[in-house]
Amino acid sequence: MLDLQWLRMNANEVQQVAELKGIDIDIAQLLGLDVQRKELLQQVEVLRQQRNEQSKQIGALVQGGDHAQVELLKQHVRAMNDRLSVLEEQLAQVRLVLDKGMMLVPNIVSPDTPQGRSDADNVEMKRVGEPEAPTFKLRDHIELGELHDMIDIPRGVKTAGTRHYYLKGAGVLLHRAVQQLALDLLMERGFTPLEVPLMARTAAMMNTGFFPTGEDQSYAIVDEDQWLVGTSEVPLVAYYSNEIVDVSEPIRLAAVSTCFRSEVGSAGKDVHGLYRVHQFAKVEQVVICEADQALAEQLHQEITAHAEEILRLLELPYRMMAVCTGDMSQKTYKQFDIETWMPSRQAYGETHSSSNLLDFQARRSGIRYRDTEGRLRYAYTLNNTAVATPRILIPLLENHQDEVGGIHIPHALRPYMNGVAYLAPQ
Ligand code: AMP
Repeated sequence: MLDLQWLRMNANEVQQVAELKGIDIDIAQLLGLDVQRKELLQQVEVLRQQRNEQSKQIGALVQGGDHAQVELLKQHVRAMNDRLSVLEEQLAQVRLVLDKGMMLVPNIVSPDTPQGRSDADNVEMKRVGEPEAPTFKLRDHIELGELHDMIDIPRGVKTAGTRHYYLKGAGVLLHRAVQQLALDLLMERGFTPLEVPLMARTAAMMNTGFFPTGEDQSYAIVDEDQWLVGTSEVPLVAYYSNEIVDVSEPIRLAAVSTCFRSEVGSAGKDVHGLYRVHQFAKVEQVVICEADQALAEQLHQEITAHAEEILRLLELPYRMMAVCTGDMSQKTYKQFDIETWMPSRQAYGETHSSSNLLDFQARRSGIRYRDTEGRLRYAYTLNNTAVATPRILIPLLENHQDEVGGIHIPHALRPYMNGVAYLAPQ
């Protein structure tokens, strides 16, 4: 959410950003509502004061015994009360529409964000590692998963429906190994690990910027004001909601969590295998810092570098993308995606998403700190994937396979796999 006063000064820029992000909102209309709200509030306050004064006068007149005048004033006060009810109702309505509208206002975007309509317009920044040219017929992760009896999609579908799966045996070990490797790396870099609630209240979903725009992506708990989280970013940021925090050192938080996504709108897309599923695990990084652009930029680089480091440890080729306006969510100021080489797609596929949100989430969530002059200010927040699995198992299995379908385990992962260096096909 943006500051209303700031919005008034920058209405054109925000309107433009909304169009670039594909958000249907009329900023001028919203600001008109704010003017209306102020006018109504003023009328209500004036009328309340007049009513209170006249009520007092009635008290004095009653004591003086002037019954005719008392009756007249009482009628007057009743009329004022009726008028007040109407105005208060109008004010409540305007406030409601204004508050709803404000929740749709997008964050601004950084000046170096590429403009574009969709992910096809994202700009490649660099490539790291060379995808190996295949010297034998490659198997995709599903074939490899079956060969090793470690991925079972048909039974996942039988139990839970489409986009569900079972991991089994070495599949479970790999799934857990990448998560522990990522968490250990983050803890080594000063992140505090948290085990988080996997459900969140509507307020937490709203305040972290996932609602109202992404409501259809979430699973609701029936008859409760709770939702299954699509990412631990929600509980990690909400942890400090409505608190005054100490950000003299940036707060670095990490969580390993299951994530649930309805994936509404992606029917027919990525239907094969483990790429787009309804339930997955993610190690997430969240940073909360002072409202300082240069510091946030530096931290954005830092959390992005952690993801790169993890891919280096997993010995996987990847490329970095500057995400364009049309592929950004409402809350994002600047975003990099990392895409890892997936041989079965003969393409890079998104595995990490690193975002700088400035004070957008903190303002909605009421996360503030005291600056050096003692003023209360909204903090900045940033987040990035450390690893998301089973999606990362796609490049991991497919890039490290050999001719017979065996899987070479990257060196850094072996300690998390009971020392196993090679998975021979069963
Ligand atoms: P996001 O939180 O949407 O930025 O996604 C972060 C990462 O989570 C993505 O880059 C993927 O690696 C992973 N991910 C997101 N959605 C899914 C999904 N439906 N199925 C599997 N992995 C996903």
